[in-house]
Amino acid sequence: MISVEYREADTKEALDKWARTLGVGVRIVDETWDSIYFQADAEYADGTHLRCRYRQVLPRPLAFRRRERTFIVGLLHEVDGASCYHVRPVIAGLSTDSQAEAVREATIYAGAMVELQRRSVCGATAANLSVYVVTRAADWNP
Ligand SMILES: [Zn+2]
Repeated sequence: MISVEYREADTKEALDKWARTLGVGVRIVDETWDSIYFQADAEYADGTHLRCRYRQVLPRPLAFRRRERTFIVGLLHEVDGASCYHVRPVIAGLSTDSQAEAVREATIYAGAMVELQRRSVCGATAANLSVYVVTRAADWNP
């Protein structure tokens, strides 16, 4: 039977130390407009799985900037005569004041992300995907 031990680190340093002690790496597993989630996984010889996570809360000005620059990108491509849809939230254009440039970056990131995650499943590639919607997440009304 597989058992999982889960813990939340109080600081990023504590997570790094925990990971170093167990000889494993720390990676970013998720991000939202106001937080970044770091995680490390290790396994004991008996199969017990250890997971340690740290949520870094971003400073408010940066968080608001990221919320402003979070886009929902809808992409589609054809598979056997039918349309295959992919929707991704992405943060893009943090270093530009141009909304058009931010949207352009968002579509590139979303296309790359879909290719990385789905190419082996449905054949989506950055090249065969076309954008059918890009909207700021703050304006998104599903
Ligand atoms: Zn697809």
